[in-house]
Amino acid sequence: MGPPGSGKGTQAKRLADRFQIPHVSTGDMLRQAVQSGTDLGKEAAPIMASGGLVPDELMIGIIRERLAQPDATSGYVLDGFPRTTEQAEKLEPILAGNGGGSARVLQLLVPDDLIVGRLSGRLSCIKCGSAYHQKNNPPKVANVCDRCGSELTVRPDDTEQAVRKRLESFHRQTIPVVAFYRNKNVLHEVDGNAPVDQVFERIERFVGE
Ligand code: AMP
Repeated sequence: MGPPGSGKGTQAKRLADRFQIPHVSTGDMLRQAVQSGTDLGKEAAPIMASGGLVPDELMIGIIRERLAQPDATSGYVLDGFPRTTEQAEKLEPILAGNGGGSARVLQLLVPDDLIVGRLSGRLSCIKCGSAYHQKNNPPKVANVCDRCGSELTVRPDDTEQAVRKRLESFHRQTIPVVAFYRNKNVLHEVDGNAPVDQVFERIERFVGE
């Protein structure tokens, strides 16, 4: 969990690579649907571009289907889901069915006033979901993804107006989900305001425990 631009995607990918388990990012799945022009993509595109949240029933359906795939039987890293209390409640029986007794939740802490700077200048790969930053973390070859070689683009929801709405929705709809997991004693907070490697070390330390 964490606000937009806190490094969820970058850290979730690393964690998934480290443990050889799938990285399940609802944002990546939606962006791929938008790019392929599926019905889901057509419905989600305007909502995403404005910085809003896609309806819960749709998201829960997508996650239920994804976590039923055979590669998800030995664990997975969820990134960007759940984002509302409704999604968190509907995830519970799915987790229970997947041996979810050991589910853990990481929250990346990054102050709001750093978010806009992190997101303006972000370059994203729609194919594999990798993220770069024009200044702080540029790709080796300009506009080309180091990981998969695809062209990098600026996400349509990284505009200042959409970022403000995404932050607002994080505070209003997703912070209650953080409280939901805190009450279950499975939440771990990690200071995300540090270089990528350092944040990953903090995460590994927690997961190692
Ligand atoms: P992300 O890549 O996680 O920042 O997600 C990008 C956008 O996809 C969000 O701003 C939402 O519009 C949509 N989205 C991703 N995950 C969810 C979710 N769990 N619930 C609702 N909308 C979502």
